[in-house]
Amino acid sequence: MKLVVSEDCIGCGACIDTCPEVFDWNEDGTMAKAIDADVPDANTDAATQAMSDCPVGAISEE
Ligand code: SF4
Repeated sequence: MKLVVSEDCIGCGACIDTCPEVFDWNEDGTMAKAIDADVPDANTDAATQAMSDCPVGAISEE
């Protein structure tokens, strides 16, 4: 499972709070980004939760 954050991100930070192992702020701190690798098995549940909780549906599976 590999996740990507689209340009629709409004920078609310919810995914970073829910799963900081997978999501972080981008370089200028305005949007989230996902790690550039497969989500580790240990973080799959939290990452999936973050994806479904995103208020604008900006997280998708690549
Ligand atoms: S939860 Fe969605 S809108 Fe909020 S920072 Fe993460 S990707 Fe962006």
